[in-house]
Amino acid sequence: MIAVLGGSFDPVHIGHLRVAIEVRDHLQLEQLRLIPCGQPPHRKPFVATAAQRLRMLELAIADESSLMVDDRELRVERTSYTVDTLTDLRAESGQQPICLIIGADAFQQLDRWRQWMDLFALAHLIVVQRPGYHISASAVVAKYTQTRRIQHYQQLTENSAGNIYFLEIPPLEISSTRIRMLASTGKSIRYLVPDRVYHWMQEHQLYQ
Ligand code: ATP
Ligand code: MG
Repeated sequence: MIAVLGGSFDPVHIGHLRVAIEVRDHLQLEQLRLIPCGQPPHRKPFVATAAQRLRMLELAIADESSLMVDDRELRVERTSYTVDTLTDLRAESGQQPICLIIGADAFQQLDRWRQWMDLFALAHLIVVQRPGYHISASAVVAKYTQTRRIQHYQQLTENSAGNIYFLEIPPLEISSTRIRMLASTGKSIRYLVPDRVYHWMQEHQLYQ
């Protein structure tokens, strides 16, 4: 089973890392990959460069062998959409189940993703809670996903793609937006990000 958490990671924070660990342990996975995205067209520009976002991710997971960073979306010129990345992963991994992990905020906007329905031909979706957001879908997403929902994670191994699983995890109200805001107003972000990331950000005066 391949599990993927995509994000802008501008910067990575312990909210992301706990999502990864909670999913890893719940699904009893050996490995989980974090995929930093290139600049998507519908978002305002990232603050850190791609190289900086990647560096912080690498520092964050340096001593955690079950997490790996997959920088494929940063290595291509064009924007990679999730559907493209999952297509590549599918081509590499045969019939293995692939699970795409997203938070409730991302799930609410799923129908804005390019070819969002095609995602289900390529992967399962795991939706985790996020403080401040209800796990709710637009009408079209709710209709499309209602028959795909599974109640037990073991069912994720029965098919290689196509199901949706909602996982409750202890909420951590942490966002990159707030971290950038704190840093830019001279306030501390200590303990919201791993220490190595904190020190690196200090050294590079990132987001200040
Ligand atoms: P920004 O504020 O810049 O959007 P972010 O904190 O939302 O940053 P992203 O990189 O956008 O982080 O998030 C990547 C993925 O991780 C998304 O699917 C998002 O829902 C999820 N995620 C991020 N933070 C949390 C959190 N604290 N709890 C649960 N899920 C989270
Ligand atoms: Mg976000």
